Amino acid sequence: MPGTDFSARVLAWYARHGRRDLPWQDNPTPYRVWVSEIMLQQTQVNTVIPYYWRFMQRFSDVAALAGADIDQVLHQWTGLGYYARARNLHAAAVMVRDRWSGRFPETFDEVLSLPGVGRSTAGAILALACRQRHAILDGNVKRVLARFHAVEGWPGKASVLRRLWELAEQHTPEGQVAEYTQAMMDLGATLCTRGTPECGRCPLSDDCQARQTDRQRDLPSPRPRKALPVRRARLLLLYNDRHEVLLERDVELDECIIMDSVHIRRGARLRRVIVDRYNSIAAKTCIGFDPERDRRRYHISDSGIVVVPSGRAVPGNRSYTGGYV
Ligand code: SF4
Repeated sequence: MPGTDFSARVLAWYARHGRRDLPWQDNPTPYRVWVSEIMLQQTQVNTVIPYYWRFMQRFSDVAALAGADIDQVLHQWTGLGYYARARNLHAAAVMVRDRWSGRFPETFDEVLSLPGVGRSTAGAILALACRQRHAILDGNVKRVLARFHAVEGWPGKASVLRRLWELAEQHTPEGQVAEYTQAMMDLGATLCTRGTPECGRCPLSDDCQARQTDRQRDLPSPRPRKALPVRRARLLLLYNDRHEVLLERDVELDECIIMDSVHIRRGARLRRVIVDRYNSIAAKTCIGFDPERDRRRYHISDSGIVVVPSGRAVPGNRSYTGGYV
C-alpha cells in the first residue's frame, strides 16, 4: 500500500483522537523533548508526567542540567527506575555544554552520539522538536507495524528489526512529521495495545493483516524461549519412617522446597548436622510429602529444584533421617 494512504489515515485519526496536552508538547524544544523521550523509555506517560514537571522546574535547560551534581539529578529521578537513564542524561548534557557550547545539536548523527540516545530516540527528538523527517521505531510502533504487515519473528532479531525499520521509513510522510510521529506513538499506546487491541476503533483496521487473520495476539512474535540448561545436583532428602519427605515452606514463593537442595553436596557429617537442624524445627516449618503416593511437579528455579507437592501437614514431631538422591 502506498505510504501516503497509511500516514494520511494515521494523521486523520490523530487530528480527532491524538494526545495534544502532554507537558513536553508545550514549547517542544529539543531539550524538553529529549528529556521526555528518555523518561518515556520503559515508562508509561502517566507515570512520567509528574517527574517531568519536577525535573523541568529543577533543570530548565541544558546548562542547568550540565552544571548540576549527578546526585541532584539522581535525586529528581528517584522512583522512576532505570537509573542509567539519569546518568546518561547528565553525561549528555555535559557533552552538549562542552562540545556545542550548550546548544542542543540538531543533526541526526550528533543527536545519535549522545549517551543513552538510540536511532529511534534521535529520530523522535528531531521529528517532534525540529520537524525533520526521521522514522521512529519504539516498542509501540514496532507492534503496530508488525501487526499491520504481519511481520513474523521476534523484533529483537536483526533481520526482523531491519524489515520493521524499512516499513517505518516507508510510512513516514514528508509533511506533518511531528504529528505523524506522535500519532504512531499514541496509536500503539492507546489502541494497538499489547493485550487487547481495539481494532474496531483503529484507522488501519480495513487492511491490517493481523486483524484480517485474527492474529493480533500472536504478533509481534515473542522472544524465543531459551532451552533450560540441564544441571546435575545431589539432593539430601529427609524422610521419616512413613516415607514422608521433609519439605521446607518458602513463604515468598508460597511453595515447598526440598531443603537446602543443591547446596548439600557430600559428607556424612554435614548431612548429620542438617538432619539434626531440621528435626528440631520440623513440626513448625515443614510439611511431609510422600513421593510414592503424592503427585510431584518440578520446575527449576534460581535456587535449585522446587517441588510443588499436594502437601499436607505432618502432625507433631516426627524424626527424620537423610539420604542422597
Ligand atoms: S487493526 Fe488492530 S491490530 Fe491492526 S494496527 Fe489497528 S489496533 Fe493494531
